[in-house]
Amino acid sequence: MTTGFFWDERCLWHSGGNYSGLLQVGGLVQPGGSLPDNPETKRRIVNLLHVTGLWSELATTSAPAATQDDILRVHPESYVRQFQEMSENGGGELGLRTPFGPGGYEIAAISAGLAKAALAATLNGTCQNAYALSRPPGHHCLPDFPNGFCLLANLAIAVEAARADNLTERVAIIDWDVHHGNGTEAIFFDRADTLTISVHQERNYPLDTGDFEDRGSGAGAGFNLNIPLPPGTGHVGYLEAFERLVMPALQGFQPDAIVIACGFDAGLVDPLSRMIASADTFRAMTEMVMEAADDLCGGRLMMAHEGGYAAEHVPFLAHAVLEAMSGSDIHAPDPFQLKFEGQQPSDRFNRYVSQLIAEMEEALGY
Ligand code: ZN
Repeated sequence: MTTGFFWDERCLWHSGGNYSGLLQVGGLVQPGGSLPDNPETKRRIVNLLHVTGLWSELATTSAPAATQDDILRVHPESYVRQFQEMSENGGGELGLRTPFGPGGYEIAAISAGLAKAALAATLNGTCQNAYALSRPPGHHCLPDFPNGFCLLANLAIAVEAARADNLTERVAIIDWDVHHGNGTEAIFFDRADTLTISVHQERNYPLDTGDFEDRGSGAGAGFNLNIPLPPGTGHVGYLEAFERLVMPALQGFQPDAIVIACGFDAGLVDPLSRMIASADTFRAMTEMVMEAADDLCGGRLMMAHEGGYAAEHVPFLAHAVLEAMSGSDIHAPDPFQLKFEGQQPSDRFNRYVSQLIAEMEEALGY
């Protein structure tokens, strides 16, 4: 069995503004985005995979758009209707930093559809595991308020579709995008069937969510885990957080599928964060969640793309993840390796991060 890679060129045509140069975006006029979430990081992933040859080792395919029924399991009809109407009338803005062009709804539905199909392929055994190159991303989107470039909650839509098809019940979602997965958290905050974990830079985005104390409510109490890390956290701190907090949380929950909100904006040259992760960090985190998936749920692991804004670096981070997922020998060395090694925090800083992790560990009773 192979690793599935779900992508669609139309997702790269999602417009972060409504114009490409002097031309209004739509039809055959391809947009050139100006927001950080521009197509370049994602297109370069596809390009690098082609150049190294890893592309040919993956099962690459597109997928049908998420249906309205799929979307309505997560978003209220009022939001979906507003989004569709604005999309049909030239695009616009319904939230915070989520502009879209004509046809933006259809593209967002394809983005969610890629996540849905990737998860289904993992659960029904078509693929060993799978990656969805979703764009627009999803983890910030609240049921009725898009924000942070996210227009539909791709992963929540994928998980709820899989549940509706009786493919899964207990799902663990680990969000390693450098920003807090506030949308995913909100959607599943009172649910005991979904463990949501977010490892993020503290107080980056959103500014007022992502605290460790937010553990879920009602039936969902204890099923949300925020792991805020200080700016400057590097390789050692990330892996320690995974070993001491994420892995025990997975063990305790016993998921039947593990899903990753895979942002690459913890990379050391990302313009929207202050963390110091490299391809080695993402490879190691991938190996850890693969091992957990093997132990807990028959290897069922799926990832959906979220953020990551350093166009020259993100492709190498994604390559490392896909190397690990597929077990490939094809390697794409991180061109920032020397900078990465030179910029790693001192032992003194790592002890500080370790202390923060120990405090969380103790509060969780691990
Ligand atoms: Zn992000």
